[in-house]
Amino acid sequence: MTDVSMFLRRDPALARVAAGEETAWINPHYLPFAATDGLCQLVVSDGDIAGAEARLARFAPFIARRFPETAGSGGIIESPLRPIPGMQRRLEQAYGCAVPGRLLLKLDSHLPIAGSVKARGGIYEVLKHAEDLAIAAGKLTIEDDYARLDSDEMRSFFSRYTVQVGSTGNLGLSIGIASAALGFHVIVHMSADAKQWKKDLLRAKGVEVIEYADDYSRAVAEGRRQSDADPMSHFVDDERSVDLFLGYAVAAGRLKAQLDKMDIPVDGGHPLIVYLPAGVGGAPGGVAYGLKRLFGDDVHCFFTEPVQCPSVLLGVATQTFERANVRDFGLTGATEADGLACASPSGFVTRMMTCLLSGEFTVADGRLYDDLRLLYETEGIQIEPSACAAFAGPRGLLGYEASRDYCRTHGLDEKTLANATQIAWATGGSLVPEAIRRAYLQTHI
Ligand SMILES: *Cc1c(COP(=O)(O)O)cnc(C)c1O
Repeated sequence: MTDVSMFLRRDPALARVAAGEETAWINPHYLPFAATDGLCQLVVSDGDIAGAEARLARFAPFIARRFPETAGSGGIIESPLRPIPGMQRRLEQAYGCAVPGRLLLKLDSHLPIAGSVKARGGIYEVLKHAEDLAIAAGKLTIEDDYARLDSDEMRSFFSRYTVQVGSTGNLGLSIGIASAALGFHVIVHMSADAKQWKKDLLRAKGVEVIEYADDYSRAVAEGRRQSDADPMSHFVDDERSVDLFLGYAVAAGRLKAQLDKMDIPVDGGHPLIVYLPAGVGGAPGGVAYGLKRLFGDDVHCFFTEPVQCPSVLLGVATQTFERANVRDFGLTGATEADGLACASPSGFVTRMMTCLLSGEFTVADGRLYDDLRLLYETEGIQIEPSACAAFAGPRGLLGYEASRDYCRTHGLDEKTLANATQIAWATGGSLVPEAIRRAYLQTHI
């Protein structure tokens, strides 16, 4: 049992988190990048990330063939980076806060194939597993043109194997669609939070969906147990997987190329501030880790989580990692942000991010819909409620004493912030069915 009062004494900022209020939490474990570099590279190195990039390039001809929507980018799965000046002004008006510098939106909501950030990590892990199996069976070498994986012979080879995953929805979509495209048998274990349309879409793609009345941790535990009992089955483990993390980390180099193309510098005088919605922590952790490796102290990574489900925040703050559970702090774990509804975080990611995460902003469910509407009205872009958690960042940075203090102590004075680039990472949304999109625009909490 967690001794909550002890944690609250050590880090009084946690009192507002435990009260379920919107707040900023600044990470007391944060260190200058140079102090962490050696240790981090022992776990995930620059070479590992480069290896993941090379693997995605090898698969590009297969992806381009199997998913024609990626043909334009040669089978590389990537999303646009867009200035959202209208939304920036509306956030300032609506919340009475300054949003300095330039606000951009990273549209992982519109990533091809899976319509969410999970198209990075989830698809990467499935491809890597397929490559490992095919190479071990003598059916593929890394010099081959991987377009040949799109054949009846290879699909029949992969059909002997099963891929399983526990998911609140989007990871299941990404793993399900990618695995089915290669020919794998796929089983997705879904928590009670998963939206019905996500289950329907998966079943329509031939994916076996098992539903649990319980929360996400239970769906993962059950999926892991069933997969471990089957030697022909691979479990995509959202709470532990380094491969998922690597797939997400590749986003950093892609983002840097986009910033370069837009002539946006990132350096001491032009900081980059990134806001990433977090569930179990894998997607935001991988992206943030990649960004820290490229930009070091010039990038400031904040996660955003629902007020009732700040599990990554608690895992890092208390240093109890995967043992942290929001319920031990009197929170319910319930949230409209289905993609973020993980009551306990990844032990791997909370450890990796301990010294690299600048802090977190928590967000009330009602704000998700408010910001969903603001974005739609100002920019004509619709993303899903989970992804809207990202806007807690830009409206929060100068909105709380704790985060203003972070700015003061990390060289983010008024003049520097005027030259900053802030990125809200839109993590999902393009697959949401039309009727549900309309309902989201009408939802007020
Ligand atoms: C999964 C997901 C996240 C968070 O990713 P984690 O790896 O669970 O932290 C954020 N937004 C959306 C829309 C997601 O589906």
